Amino acid sequence: MTSRPADTHCPYCALQCAMTLTPGTDAAAPPTVTGREFPTNRGGLCKKGWTSAELLGRGDRLTAPLVKLADGSFAEASWDEVLDRIAREVTRIRNEVGADAVGVFGGGGLTNEKAYQLGKFARVALGTSRIDYNGRFCMSSAAAAATRAFGLDRGLPFPLDDLDAADAVLMLGSNVGDTMPPFVQHLQGVRARGGLIVVDPRRSTTAQLTANGSGLHAQPAPGTDMALLLGISHVVIADDLCDDGFLSARTTGSDAVRRSVAAWWPERTEQVTGVPARVIRDIAHRLAGARSAYILTGRGVEQHVDGTDTATAAINLALLLGLVGREGAGYGTLTGQGNGQGGREHGQKCDQLPGSRKITDPDARAHVAAVWGVDPAAIPGPGIPAVELLASCGAAGGIRALLIHGSNVVVSAPDVSRVRESLSLLDLLVVSDFFLSETAQLADIVLPVLQWAEEEGTMTNLEGRVIRRRQAVAPPPLARSELWILRELAARLDAPGVWSLDPADVFDELARASAGGLSDYSGLSHALLDTGVAAHWPFPHGSAGTPRVFLDRFAHDDGRARLVPVRPRGPAAPHGSEVNLVTGRILEHYQSGTQTRRVAELNDPNPRLTVQLHPVTARDRGIVEGGRVRVANGRGVVEAEARLTPGIRPDTVFLPFHYAGDESANLLTSDATDPRSAMPEFKHAVVTVTPA
Ligand code: SF4
Repeated sequence: MTSRPADTHCPYCALQCAMTLTPGTDAAAPPTVTGREFPTNRGGLCKKGWTSAELLGRGDRLTAPLVKLADGSFAEASWDEVLDRIAREVTRIRNEVGADAVGVFGGGGLTNEKAYQLGKFARVALGTSRIDYNGRFCMSSAAAAATRAFGLDRGLPFPLDDLDAADAVLMLGSNVGDTMPPFVQHLQGVRARGGLIVVDPRRSTTAQLTANGSGLHAQPAPGTDMALLLGISHVVIADDLCDDGFLSARTTGSDAVRRSVAAWWPERTEQVTGVPARVIRDIAHRLAGARSAYILTGRGVEQHVDGTDTATAAINLALLLGLVGREGAGYGTLTGQGNGQGGREHGQKCDQLPGSRKITDPDARAHVAAVWGVDPAAIPGPGIPAVELLASCGAAGGIRALLIHGSNVVVSAPDVSRVRESLSLLDLLVVSDFFLSETAQLADIVLPVLQWAEEEGTMTNLEGRVIRRRQAVAPPPLARSELWILRELAARLDAPGVWSLDPADVFDELARASAGGLSDYSGLSHALLDTGVAAHWPFPHGSAGTPRVFLDRFAHDDGRARLVPVRPRGPAAPHGSEVNLVTGRILEHYQSGTQTRRVAELNDPNPRLTVQLHPVTARDRGIVEGGRVRVANGRGVVEAEARLTPGIRPDTVFLPFHYAGDESANLLTSDATDPRSAMPEFKHAVVTVTPA
């Protein structure tokens, strides 16, 4: 720790805005936040970033290990006491029913070092295949689609500031105007050129950026995004707008895609999506006519049971137009969580080893096993993804002890009442966090860990740029880094290998484990990152990094991208008095709200759950602005305050998902998942809406 200003990055989203934390003269006061010049945020921060230092001085910060007493309350305990008990219980369960009865659930906010060490801990110290993380709820569909099409999953395969020169940007299902406001700086150029196209069932903050000749806003019915993309692709083909030279030189599969979209003429697409046929034609011609065009997807189109195929439809469109694999154009997905990108590269996913390697690949297993100092055969095979992992808790033959790190699943997972019930059936639930989150409140043992400005580490932002997170303040004396906790537990479990406490050492090991993999960090180190180098992976040893991937070849063995025909399956449609439910984020809050609900400036504007609905929808049901509304379906019911807006479709209502308990939007969402990515369907459910 230093008493000097520390250059670091925001604790929240994947834009990872640069900031400087300056210690106050009063040691008890939180540091002062100033925005810092950086390519993604250019000195700007949103109100979440400006107020982030308040998290560092809060009195409800966890400061000692806690154990649950028989009456349900918590009592403080020593570290030796809780670590001994965890090791004893885990060993007993492993001996009784096997290693896969112990599970690990990670987070997309953990640093790269912690994400790596957690994946290694699960496989080496616990010997379990049962590890996955909350990024499964966030990035998995786009990651699966990009891997299928390009052979590589990097959210933005180009630097964010490439967007500045765009003539057309098609943004589907992403509301950066609220979720990452400094991003909007990169859209000012395309707005000035009238080329911003936003697809969203709501006239969101981002959709409003298309006003006054800045672009256009298309409002498809929820769950029909793939149909819209197929309709746009139909026009591209029918009107001879394809980049045939690119398709023949650098791709495979275009003929099958041409056939698959033949029936999606604009008038039919209009019937399915509600987007006028002339708008569909306009979008196709705007993209094809642009000198520099980009297609970007977000959770709105990805969090569906056909999310991978929907992202694939967006990629197919980009490939038909020749927008990928050259400078000044591209397809990308906008990662949400702070380390959603890095969190999925280093081994937290149930099917991957560090370097984004397949866990089933014998060469990958041999490489990683050598770094870990274990026999390749000792590394378990693929596990089960997040929703399935949580559902298996307490079930016959399922998980009996679960360690959760940096995730508040009883707010953020789908169908949370079932998740809560599953967790209650465990023999042992251990939660590591820095606040007593709603999930931590259910735990048998709570471990107080370090938060963002109390530790050193690295994060990987939405453009695959590896950045340094730096310590600015001292942690509470009894709080510990996950690196320390994992080393202590590994020792108690007689695990082989080296378990360093130094984030720089762990990063070096991570870099070695990633060498030769898709997300190769082997040329990076904390020392190099401290020089301020622009560190976009792949960054193999001896290279200068890769700001733009795919310029020469795609990552499949033959170097070609794949176009893959996809077909909409269609979500359950509302009928009678029912409407579609869409969930999402609002400006002031981040994810499950564990942090932002504790900051008065963020929480006070929206302290309780609100529901957005169209005035016609409200009138038909006798609902008035500010009135209490009951939103319900077969899974659950919430009450919320009505916010009437003509900017949302009359067949759709919107609930933010940041609230807990009986205000959790995820009481209503389904745990049905995409068969390819295991992404849950957060962005569509059918509900009834009535006055409370
Ligand atoms: Fe933090 Fe994201 Fe806001 Fe930037 S946009 S200040 S990273 S929450």
